[in-house]
Amino acid sequence: MTTPRDILNQYNIKPRKKLGQSFLIDVNTIKKIAALARISSDDVVVEIGAGIGVLTREIAQIAKQVIAVEIDPYLVKALRDQLAFCSNIEIYSGDILKFDFSSISNKYNSKINVIGNVPYHISSPVIFHLLSARTDISCFTLMLQKEVVQRLVSLPDNKNYGVPSVLLQMYAEVERLFDVPATCFYPRPKVESSIIQGTFLEKSQVELIDEIFFSRVVKAAFAQRRKMLINNLKNAKFLEEFSDTELKEALDDAGVDGKRRGETLTLYEFGNLSNILKQKRQSR
Ligand code: SAH
Repeated sequence: MTTPRDILNQYNIKPRKKLGQSFLIDVNTIKKIAALARISSDDVVVEIGAGIGVLTREIAQIAKQVIAVEIDPYLVKALRDQLAFCSNIEIYSGDILKFDFSSISNKYNSKINVIGNVPYHISSPVIFHLLSARTDISCFTLMLQKEVVQRLVSLPDNKNYGVPSVLLQMYAEVERLFDVPATCFYPRPKVESSIIQGTFLEKSQVELIDEIFFSRVVKAAFAQRRKMLINNLKNAKFLEEFSDTELKEALDDAGVDGKRRGETLTLYEFGNLSNILKQKRQSR
């Protein structure tokens, strides 16, 4: 069997740091990710950063169709060569951040399962891109830096709980599946990695009057982590039309003590507070 190392040697691939290239070389980990990614034989899978195609090949054995997205033209050439014999793999040469999930979802009339060993320098933009395309995506299984995964799955009252945790968990059920040691990659990353899996919900955890307004409230609440929530709200520019008394009223209506820190609020409290503030604005 051709190993990931063989492929790297065959194409004389010199990993490009700038593109976050760190290839999975541990065959067991590759198989484990593919097996846990909840791929069925009806699934259309988009792979982020297919690299040398080792995970791609595993997924293609299970899925109906795989769209392998890769930005590096040299790797795209190697992928086309390597995967030429697989009839259910399409290679998309380009940037995942510009990838149009809705056109693929429409084309196959199916929600997309997203998978990938994500280049770490674009992990936040990737998560936000998936969030904005969430109605076209069923679930995702991603390798990210361990700290990023800890933040994304964190619950309130924890130092890792922050804007990304709230914004993702409002729309998705998430869990950390397992950690992957640096020895499984070439070149070895300086950081540890974990696999996160998420399922986008049909409806957000709280029905939101305005999703953009909600994300602004969340960002404001965490603007200065150590400050009381009320003070963070008072300092938020987009809320400056509200007097201190009105902000206090909104917090009371939401059943949230303004002396608490943002990091103690649950998703439901954030959702309610945002809806109440939005209603107050609308009723002016
Ligand atoms: N999935 C492969 C490679 C992971 S390394 C494996 O596990 O072995 C990350 C890959 O993402 C690299 O191949 C890199 O070229 C690619 N990449 C980096 N930035 C990207 C972007 N913006 N869009 C798509 N692919 C990208």
